[in-house]
Amino acid sequence: MSALLESYVAGHWFRAQDEGEPLLDAVTGEEVARVSTRGLDFAALVAHAREVGGPAVRRLTFHERAGMLKALAKHLGGFKDEFYALSLRTGATQRDSMVDIDGGIGTLFSYSSKGTRELPNDTVVLDGVTEPLGRGGAFVGQHVYTSRTGVAVQINAFNFPVWGMLEKLAPAFLAGLPSIVKPASQTAYLTEAVVRRIIESEILPAGSLQLVAGSAGTLLDELDEQDSVAFTGSAHTAAVLRNHRSVLHRGVRLGVEADSLNCSILGLDVTPDDAELDLFVKGVVTEMTVKAGQKCTAIRRAIVPEALADTVLTAISDRLAKISVGNPANESVRMGALASRSQRDEVRKAIEALRNSADIVYGDPDRVDVVDADAEQGAFLSPVLLRAHPGATEPHDVEPFGPVSTVLTYSTTDEAVALAARGRGSLVASLVTHDPAIARQVTLGLAPWHGRVLVLDRDDAAEAAQAGGHGSPLPNLVHGGPGRAGGGEELGGIRGVLHHMQRTAIQASPDMLTAITGRWTTGAERRVDEVHPFRKSLAELRIGDSIVSDSRTVTLADIDHFAEFTGDTFYAHTDPEAAAANPLFGGIVAHGYLVVSLAAGLFVEPNPGPVLANFGVDNLRFLTPVKAEDTIRVTLTVKQVTPRTSADYGEVRWDAVVTNQDDAPVATYDVLTLVAKTWPQEDAATD
Ligand code: NDP
Repeated sequence: MSALLESYVAGHWFRAQDEGEPLLDAVTGEEVARVSTRGLDFAALVAHAREVGGPAVRRLTFHERAGMLKALAKHLGGFKDEFYALSLRTGATQRDSMVDIDGGIGTLFSYSSKGTRELPNDTVVLDGVTEPLGRGGAFVGQHVYTSRTGVAVQINAFNFPVWGMLEKLAPAFLAGLPSIVKPASQTAYLTEAVVRRIIESEILPAGSLQLVAGSAGTLLDELDEQDSVAFTGSAHTAAVLRNHRSVLHRGVRLGVEADSLNCSILGLDVTPDDAELDLFVKGVVTEMTVKAGQKCTAIRRAIVPEALADTVLTAISDRLAKISVGNPANESVRMGALASRSQRDEVRKAIEALRNSADIVYGDPDRVDVVDADAEQGAFLSPVLLRAHPGATEPHDVEPFGPVSTVLTYSTTDEAVALAARGRGSLVASLVTHDPAIARQVTLGLAPWHGRVLVLDRDDAAEAAQAGGHGSPLPNLVHGGPGRAGGGEELGGIRGVLHHMQRTAIQASPDMLTAITGRWTTGAERRVDEVHPFRKSLAELRIGDSIVSDSRTVTLADIDHFAEFTGDTFYAHTDPEAAAANPLFGGIVAHGYLVVSLAAGLFVEPNPGPVLANFGVDNLRFLTPVKAEDTIRVTLTVKQVTPRTSADYGEVRWDAVVTNQDDAPVATYDVLTLVAKTWPQEDAATD
């Protein structure tokens, strides 16, 4: 008998008390492993995450968490051969495994770098701007995100045992949550192998990752208000989870990715000679055959202009004829097996249902020639292409989770959009067109029903293919869809992190808000002392440290000089008559960039010091025109200090307000600088 998979619970590998259910190799039908959770203490599992894992992750800043994700990605990269070998047993070809294994590791890298670049080195995230709530500026509002104190339960489908885990784990971990991963039993042996490598690396804090290999048992019963469940799988299981009492009565957050009848639309503008026709055909064939069509994003409905239907059907069939099916270990094989024979039975049933309103144009669901394998022992299935009858309903309702697609025809662009919507909400749609008007009309029609829309033409095709095309969710783009697709949303860069966090509106005085958020708020106390803040290292700077500059009168000669020097001779700066007629200025005004440049001249401390560079300006607004003989001064205040974990400097965001002789603000902006952590820098100091 093969080995029983183990779960990782409360810091120990747990072995069930029975022999477990066999999991069969998708290619040979041999037993790979057994799986069971009998005797698993689900209460202890959840308690460990809440009491040990959660507090340990939340003690870390976003940057520290991001650093761990990067270390983990590097670590897992060293075990790819082991993962690829196991992945073959799920029926996956080399290309399929790349999507799953390299795609999963790539998602860790991507979240690591986004966490470092887009989140503060803190544990709280500010959402939007500070809202004034009173007339005097003493009462303001700010939305913030904080980590929930619960557990992120992640229930995954069988088709991506590695990516499915890592794409949920990375954003949850960055958000400060401990994860309990529950892979689909069918391919849990690969997930278990990856989790073993993660646990033995000791990179993640204890309790921040646990594994349930086998049935979820009473896991959901243990959850309450601060917990969440992210589910990927069938609409049937999604409905069971939606009706679970923890979701209904205890406020457990549930995110769902379920069945999705994605489509690809060929634009009405495309002719048989256009490159777009070939792109469309390639896209459909790729999505039918990668992962043997077992992808939640695969193209199930190919929607083509009536006039091109025969051309498209022939072209797809010709390409499918070149796809060799068989043992994924054999290099000549282009499409491997389905995950299990029972999954093949399900797909055959779905094809039967589709045949109520569609005819098979290519492939035989009951027969397939295979390379280097036994067609019956392995879960092999031929790609099957169907053509829908006019008014067909099944292609919009039945999801064949395998290498199956149905061609539907349309005559007007509105009709194409209406057909797409009959899927009742999908993860992704493609539109293949080179006509900008069609691109806008169809894309805006598709958007309310889809989480992602790929607009493909000869110009973006090469790069789109490198990025994975229609079927590849990307870490920086939203993955999820409305309606039937589950209504959930994952990934999308930092959006995927914020989904796990609680947004709270804080109402307070500017001083309190500064203390709570760690970011200086307009109206809060400023500290001005003898030392210019540019002379202070990161270690010495404090939020609220300020400098109020000397003043300077802007002369007409300054404005003329700036115009001549830069070449910016826009009439409002150079032509008194034309400037007088300008409804906003009523006369010559200084260039906005002159004001900002003069302000820099006013606040700068010129000598070598801890400020290393200015790397930009955020939120620049010119509020009041500056005229000749106006006198300006600038107040600069330390707003936020972000040490970089991997460098001996960090970022300082300064609040800059330029005012005129009447104390009216003429320009406001944030100055962004890089500042040394210590000064003189330690090396120099020890010399
Ligand atoms: P399931 O919905 O059966 O299983 C998905 C996950 O849910 C598995 O981990 C499963 O565990 C778990 N699960 C099942 N029942 C419960 C429960 N009562 N409580 C908690 N967890 C539960 O889907 P499959 O993976 O078997 O795939 C079946 C179909 O789902 C496919 O044919 C396809 O239509 C659809 N699918 C959709 C995807 C998408 O993203 N849109 C992706 C993959 C599949 P266990 O395996 O241990 O039963």
